[in-house]
Amino acid sequence: MVLPKTILKQVEAICRAFLWTGQWFSSTPGNVKWESVCKGKKEGGLGFRDTVKWNIATLGKHVWAMAMEKDNLWVKWIHSVYLKNKTLEHYHPTIDSSWYWKKIWEAKMELERVGITTAKLRTWTHYSVKRVYQIMKGETEQLQWSRNVWDRWSILKHSFFSWLAIQDRLKTKERLVQYGVLQDDTCSLCGGGAETINHLYFDFQYTQRVLELVTSWLGLGRTYRDLESAFKWINRRLSQQKVKKKVWNAAVNAIVYCIWQVRNSMVWKNQKQQEDHTAKQIKFLILSRLNKLRGRKKKPNEECWIDSLYNV
Ligand SMILES: [Zn+2]
Repeated sequence: MVLPKTILKQVEAICRAFLWTGQWFSSTPGNVKWESVCKGKKEGGLGFRDTVKWNIATLGKHVWAMAMEKDNLWVKWIHSVYLKNKTLEHYHPTIDSSWYWKKIWEAKMELERVGITTAKLRTWTHYSVKRVYQIMKGETEQLQWSRNVWDRWSILKHSFFSWLAIQDRLKTKERLVQYGVLQDDTCSLCGGGAETINHLYFDFQYTQRVLELVTSWLGLGRTYRDLESAFKWINRRLSQQKVKKKVWNAAVNAIVYCIWQVRNSMVWKNQKQQEDHTAKQIKFLILSRLNKLRGRKKKPNEECWIDSLYNV
């Protein structure tokens, strides 16, 4: 199916609007570049499909069929109508070519731009849209933290906020000053410096207290400089303990989410919630998620550890 670019762009706009103006979030423009959102989760994106690129990759299948001189009606027809006796390399579409044919040709040019030449296509025994799409998107570095942020034991909404926070994309006062929305970035919760992500999660006394309560519950304690090093530490310390690692990831993601909610009610509604209440809320969220995952196979000692979490 060939879709005009304008329609593809509209589909993209709808996805984007949904992502940034849904219940989780309300702000325009989006906090993270759309191009980054389209990166795979392992590469720090959300794995949204870049519809324009995907469409070109889909059209590439026709280009491949022509390059392979596949014995089918369509290729024969293309040869009799357009290519005549020319090879793909020596042909160029004329102005009166059909819209469809021009689109396919455009796709061919796009593929060449990323190194997928006709000669290269001829070496492929089959055509994979997915593989071509990956090539078009380009290689990007895999980020270690993505596994922690998107761990399936975490609540999706928490992962999403963690994903924003680790990229410094939550709308802290520091960011709002950068945007020119605010003039003063002083943390209104404690007055102790600029409200940055690191201040909110690692300097702010309130968070420190919540962290203490949650970490002592999980039986592991340590202070971190930032979110990334917290995840790194978890990966190192718990590399052999899969279940604990998953629960810890879930805890970090839950803390990021809950502290951000607490911060919002303090900043916007002037409502304060006690630290132990927030910690309890975090424990409850983690336990209810664990409860849903009960049936999964675990080692006996892991099962014991999880049981112990319910006894507090
Ligand atoms: Zn503060």
